[in-house]
Amino acid sequence: MEYSFVNFIFMILVLSLGYIAWLWVREERRINRNRWQLSRRQLFHCNNCHLAFVPKEPVSLCRCPRCNTVCIRRRNDLSPAPSMEKKS
Ligand SMILES: [Zn+2]
Repeated sequence: MEYSFVNFIFMILVLSLGYIAWLWVREERRINRNRWQLSRRQLFHCNNCHLAFVPKEPVSLCRCPRCNTVCIRRRNDLSPAPSMEKKS
């Protein structure tokens, strides 16, 4: 194998791309490990002001932080989350 300047530049390019790919994979793993996960069972939805919030403690009854209305979480409340889309 002949060592030339072109081969040297090509090797540097390949090593740089490999290093960038390794950094990318490492960043993706870090993001997946630290991703927030919100359980639908912890999410409260105020019927008065339509605010969705998570209480500080795992309770089934609390007050809305915006309008102070009592919000009740039903046991089998699996209704879909309120949509953020505009209704036309
Ligand atoms: Zn409210």
